[in-house]
Amino acid sequence: MESLPNFSLLRPRSIAEAVAARAGAGEIRFLAGGTDLLPALRHGLMQASTLIDLSNVAELRGITSDREGVRIGAGTTIQELSAHPLVARDYPAVAEAAVAIAGPTHRAVGTVGGNLCVDTRCRFYNQSEPWRTANNFCMKLAGDICRVAPKADRCYAAYSGDLAPALIAHAAIAEIIGPAGLRHAPLAEIFTDDGIVYLTLAPGELLVSVRLPAAPGWRSGYEKIRTRGAIDFPLVGVAVALRCENGKLRELRVVVTGTDSCPLSIVGLDDLCALPLDEALTRLDKLVRKQVGPMETTLAPATYRRRVVPVLARRLINRLLPGVPA
Ligand SMILES: Cc1cc2nc3c(=O)[nH]c(=O)nc-3n(C[C@H](O)[C@H](O)[C@H](O)COP(=O)(O)OP(=O)(O)OC[C@H]3O[C@@H](n4cnc5c(N)ncnc54)[C@H](O)[C@@H]3O)c2cc1C
Repeated sequence: MESLPNFSLLRPRSIAEAVAARAGAGEIRFLAGGTDLLPALRHGLMQASTLIDLSNVAELRGITSDREGVRIGAGTTIQELSAHPLVARDYPAVAEAAVAIAGPTHRAVGTVGGNLCVDTRCRFYNQSEPWRTANNFCMKLAGDICRVAPKADRCYAAYSGDLAPALIAHAAIAEIIGPAGLRHAPLAEIFTDDGIVYLTLAPGELLVSVRLPAAPGWRSGYEKIRTRGAIDFPLVGVAVALRCENGKLRELRVVVTGTDSCPLSIVGLDDLCALPLDEALTRLDKLVRKQVGPMETTLAPATYRRRVVPVLARRLINRLLPGVPA
C-alpha cells in the first residue's frame, strides 16, 4: 500500500485567506473533500508541499435561490446537492448526476468544486507506481507519449466527472476568484480538451460557486454507464436538457462526459428541433457519434462507448418528452 507523503496543511476560514494562501511558494493545492486528491497523492500521481483545506470556509458552502435561479457553493457536498428539493425539482439532471457519483461515503464529503475539478482519467495513468514503472509511464506523468494515441502531441486522458455535463446542460455559470479578482464564465469554458491541462483556471484561481439560471419549461435528466452499478466513474455519461412548446421540441442540449478530455457539448442540435421525432433522433445518433472522441482510456472498448452515447441520449429524450411525467 502506498503511503500519503508529508505535506503542510493550511486551514483558512475565508475565501480571501484561501486565495492568499495559494499564492505562497511550492507545490500548493486546494483540498476539498479529498476523495480524488488524497488517493492521487498516495499513488504518486501528484505532488503537494502544502494543501489548503477548504472545509472551514463557510462562504463556499450552501445552496441559495432567487428569481434568477440557484447558486451552488463549490464547498457544498454532493450529498447535500443530491438531496436538495429545489435542485431535484428544477434541475433534475443535476440531482440525478449527483446521486450517481461514487458511493454514499464519497458523496458525504466530496464537494461540487472538487467534482468539477476532478483529474482526468486513463487506464495507463490511474495505476499504482510499480505498474506505471513497469509499463514505462505515459505522457500525463513522467513519460513521453500518450499510450492511447502514441503519435499524438497531447494526452487523451478522459474527463469523467458526472456533475459537469448536467450543470452545463443547464447553462451553468462559474464564479471564480483568484489573484486578479472575481470573474464569471460559462462553466463549459473552465474546461479544455487536453488530458493534462484540462482546466482553464489560472494558477491560484478558486472555483467559488456555480449559478444555474432559472429554467421554467426545461426538463432534464442524466444517465451513465459504468462497470458496476455503484462507485464507478462513468464509462460514458450523458446529460440532456430540452424545452418543448405546444408539444413540440424547441430547444435541445446534449452534453457528454467520459469520452473526451473535457465535457463535450454536442453542436448542431438547433436544426433537429424542427424535424419529426424519429428523424431528429436518427440525425442525433449521427451527430453524436461523429463528435464524441472516446479513446482506449478504459477497459471498455472505445467503439462500445461511442455507440452507447447516442443510446443514452435517445433514452433520455424519450423519457423527457411531454406525455411522460417529468
Ligand atoms: C472509488 C471512487 C469512485 C469515484 N467515483 C466517481 C464517480 O462515479 N463520478 C465522479 O464524478 N467522481 C467520482 N470519484 C471522484 C471523486 O470522489 C468525486 O469527483 C468528488 O466529487 C471529488 O470532490 P472532492 O471534494 O473530494 O475533491 P478533492 O479530491 O478535494 O479535489 C479534487 C480536485 O479539485 C480541486 N479543487 C477542489 N475544490 C476546488 C475549488 N473550489 N476550486 C478549485 N479547485 C478545487 C483540488 O485541488 C483537486 O485538484 C470517485 C472517487 C473514488 C475514490
